[in-house]
Amino acid sequence: MPMRNLIIPLLLSAMVVLVVLVALDTPGSAIAAALVTFAGFVTVIVASRDSFERQLQLLARKTRVRAEGTAPLPSAPEDDTLDEVANLEGAIDSLHARLTAQNSQLTQEARTLTAVLDGMIEGIWITDAAGTVVRHNDALREMLQPGSTGIIGQRPLALIRNEELNDAVMRACRDGASSRLELTLEGLFPRTLAIRVTPLGKDLPGSAAVFHDVTELRRLEKVRKDFVANVSHELRTPITAIRGYAETLQSGALKDQEMAPKMVEIIHRQSERLSELVEDLLELSRLESRELKLKIAPVPLAVAASRAAETVKPKAAGKDIHLELQVPPELAALGDERAVEQVLLNLLDNAVKYTPAGGRVNLFGTLEDGRCVVRVKDTGVGIEPKHLSRIFERFYRVDKGRSRDMGGTGLGLSIVKHLVGAMDGEVKVESQPNVGSVFVIFLPVAAPEAASG
Ligand code: ADP
Repeated sequence: MPMRNLIIPLLLSAMVVLVVLVALDTPGSAIAAALVTFAGFVTVIVASRDSFERQLQLLARKTRVRAEGTAPLPSAPEDDTLDEVANLEGAIDSLHARLTAQNSQLTQEARTLTAVLDGMIEGIWITDAAGTVVRHNDALREMLQPGSTGIIGQRPLALIRNEELNDAVMRACRDGASSRLELTLEGLFPRTLAIRVTPLGKDLPGSAAVFHDVTELRRLEKVRKDFVANVSHELRTPITAIRGYAETLQSGALKDQEMAPKMVEIIHRQSERLSELVEDLLELSRLESRELKLKIAPVPLAVAASRAAETVKPKAAGKDIHLELQVPPELAALGDERAVEQVLLNLLDNAVKYTPAGGRVNLFGTLEDGRCVVRVKDTGVGIEPKHLSRIFERFYRVDKGRSRDMGGTGLGLSIVKHLVGAMDGEVKVESQPNVGSVFVIFLPVAAPEAASG
C-alpha cells in the first residue's frame, strides 16, 4: 500500500475527530483525541517504513539474483508489496528481460562472427589502438605458425619480421590510413602474402589486417609468363630460319643449282619442326583444358607398342640402333588407344633420339601388382639426377642444343605425363648418365575377359 494512501486518511480522521469534539465543545478531550490519533499515525508511519525497507531489501536481493543469473528467476511480487516497490520491481523485470534479449543477440552475433572469421581462407588479425593483436582467425594461425596459440597480445613485428607491415599497422592505428602490401614469408614452405591493412573505424580505435595467400597465384603467373616466353622463343627459331632462307633464295640464290636445294631442304625441315611444335602445343592445351575426351577401353599393349615402334623404326635403323619389343600378347591396359600409342611413341622416340648410334632400345610389358607396367629402356646418354624431377615440365630440356638438333620440342614428356595421368596411371624415370635411362609407365589393367577379347 502506498504511503500517501495511509497518511491522508489518518490526517483526515484526526481532523474529523478534532472537529466533532470541538463541535461538542469539549476542547480538552479534542486535544487528547487528536494526540491519540497522531500517535497512531506515527506508529503507522514507522511500521510502514520498516515494511518499505524490508521490501526494498527483498527487491535488492531479487535484482542481484537476476543480475547474476545463478538461480531461478524470483517469484512475482507478493500481495502486501507496496505499489512503488511493485512498480520498481516491474521496471527492473522489464529492464532485465531487455538486457537478457540483447545479451543473447550479442552472443549470437559474436558466435556468427567467429564462425565467419574461422571459415575464411584469408587470415585476419585485429589490433587495438597500440597495434597489439587482440583477435585473429584460424587461417591466420595456419599462415603464421601452424599449431601455435601465442598470437594474441603480440605486436606485428614479433609475428612477422617486416617493417613495412609494422608501419602499415601503425599508420592505420594512428592516422586512420589504409594500405596494401605484398611480402614473402621465408621458411620451409615460403609463402607470398598479399595484405590489406585498414583502420577499424572512426569511433573504434585499432586496425584490421587481411592476409591473402597468393603463393599459388604468383607461381601460376610465373609458369604462364615462362610458357609464353618459351613458346615465343621456340616459334621464333624455325620462323627466323624459314624467313632467312626464303629471302636468300628470293634475292638470287634460287638460281644457284648447288645451294638452292639445300636451302629448300632446310626450309622444309624447319616448317616440319614448326608444325610439330604447334601440334604438341595444341595437344597439351587440349589436355590441360580437359577438352580432349579419352575413350577408355581395353588396349592390347603389344599392338600399341608395335604401332609406335613402326614410326620410330626408320630413325632407329638410320642410327643402327637395335629396337626390340617384348610384350605378352594378352596384356591389356584400360586406357585410350590413341593416348597409349602416343605415350609409347614419345618414349620410344626419345629413347632413339638420346641413344648414340649402335645402341639398344628395349620395350618390356608386364603385369605387376595388378597394374600394367611398360618399361622403355635405352643405352643412351642418360640424365643426371638433378634434372630427373624436372624433365616432365613443359620445355624443360637437359641439353637445349642437343634436344633442338634432334628435332625435340621439349614438350614430349609433358604430354606423356598428362596423358598417363588422364588414364589414372603414372610415369617414372630411372637414369644414369652415360649408361642409359628407363622410363616406366603404370596403367590400370583391363578386366581379364575384356583383355582376352
Ligand atoms: P624433347 O623434345 O626435348 O625430347 P621431352 O619432353 O621429350 O622433350 O624431354 C625432355 C628432356 O628430357 C629432353 O630434352 C632430354 O634432355 C631428356 N630426355 C628425355 N628422354 C630421354 C632419354 N631417353 N634419355 C636421355 N634424356 C632424355
